[in-house]
Amino acid sequence: MVNPRTVLIRNARILSMVDGADEVRGNVLVQGGKIAALGTFEAPADAEIVDAAGGIVMPGLVDTHRHIWQTQLRTTAADWTLYDYLVHMRMTYSSFYKPDDVYLGNYVGTLEALNAGITTIVDHCHILNSPEHTDAAIQGLKDSQARAIFCYGLFVNPSSHAPFAYDGNMEWRYADARRLRNTTFSSDSGKILLGLAPHEPESVPFEVSAGDLAFAREIAAHTVSCHVAMGAYDQGFQFVRRLHEAGLLDPQFLFVHGASLTDDELKMIADSGAGISSTPETELQMGMGYPVALRARNAGAHASLGVDIVSNYSGDLFAQMRMMIQSARAQGNAILEARGEAPRHVELKTRDVLRLATVGGAETLRLADRIGTLEVGKQADLIIIRTDTINMLPATHAVAAVVYNAGPGDVSDVMVEGAWVKRSGSLVGVDWTTLGGRLQASAERILTEASEANPAIPSSIVDTFFRNLTPPVRAAAE
Ligand SMILES: [Zn+2]
Repeated sequence: MVNPRTVLIRNARILSMVDGADEVRGNVLVQGGKIAALGTFEAPADAEIVDAAGGIVMPGLVDTHRHIWQTQLRTTAADWTLYDYLVHMRMTYSSFYKPDDVYLGNYVGTLEALNAGITTIVDHCHILNSPEHTDAAIQGLKDSQARAIFCYGLFVNPSSHAPFAYDGNMEWRYADARRLRNTTFSSDSGKILLGLAPHEPESVPFEVSAGDLAFAREIAAHTVSCHVAMGAYDQGFQFVRRLHEAGLLDPQFLFVHGASLTDDELKMIADSGAGISSTPETELQMGMGYPVALRARNAGAHASLGVDIVSNYSGDLFAQMRMMIQSARAQGNAILEARGEAPRHVELKTRDVLRLATVGGAETLRLADRIGTLEVGKQADLIIIRTDTINMLPATHAVAAVVYNAGPGDVSDVMVEGAWVKRSGSLVGVDWTTLGGRLQASAERILTEASEANPAIPSSIVDTFFRNLTPPVRAAAE
């Protein structure tokens, strides 16, 4: 639905994120849900006037990878390895989610993203224990008003944990995803698009992945989101190379993590038009290697940033930008240090990392014709960041201030498709007292019930997974 409101944002420091364009001072005019004009001009008579008073106006941030359902398990994974995460989060807690828990996780998690200036989010949704869970997840996205890609997860929770356990039969899942394509997602013009999150490519035979990809094509998935090449866990599986050799590599792919992608594979991704999502905090914590976004960019591939698991850390991209830029610099510095040299310049600049979180995300998701920059004709997905707070003033260099100094509390206003979802520091239409209480109750029930679960079965499944895929890691641990 087109938003008919006309809005004039004035006195802004406009950071369009168009390549080569510097910050400019002026106005932004929004009409019919789109950006109608940028610069200096008189306000139309019917316009809502918003005085940005020196605030930074820029495109909404784009988070290309998150498991939003984990919102109410915030802090649970803080000191976990990937092994712990697989046993407890993916194979235990997930089995105790009822549909309303999924709704709350997705609704509150997406509101959290909007509150932090993220206007587009990819939901890699592997909590779909029943069609009711599916509908709840999508409703949470819809109610938030964010722009999103809902990637239908084919993950099967282990049958050890009733009541939401299934036997691995995929037929109802395929039928469920087809139902969505024919109903909720019958058109691709809405704010929420349908994608697919196949079986974990490195834990199933390639033929299973090939079948998933045929299914993705059948339902015309906008995005195919895959965890791949996770450092030492990958052990030379080279999923991207296999896709390339099978003629299956296409622009719909969104490869997540990817630290151990070879240079050849990055070139294959670039040539295919597919994209990369680096999630620096996960990768640095869980031994997946250095975030690959800089290598991917240098190879000519679309590259972007994602938050990944809010059960561990914050749900904003400011933290991810900082992790990304400093880990890339540390990696480069370490190479020099090993040669007894000191750095004389930095390769990844603040502007580059802000690009990853905006237009880079839009390119990665093949949405750059709609979002990612502030340009006339694009969707009015934009944010205003205050510069008068104690952590922002004087914000002399706008890009550096956003990357290094800003946090969610500095995002004063957020607009998606011409409609305000956050205004003057508060989310619009959200009763947080009631909603927060529901989220708290959901967290307590899941954690209590899951604490009774026997970890032996999920542990044995993950042991098998590690034994098959990562013998050196396994051997080192024993
Ligand atoms: Zn993930």
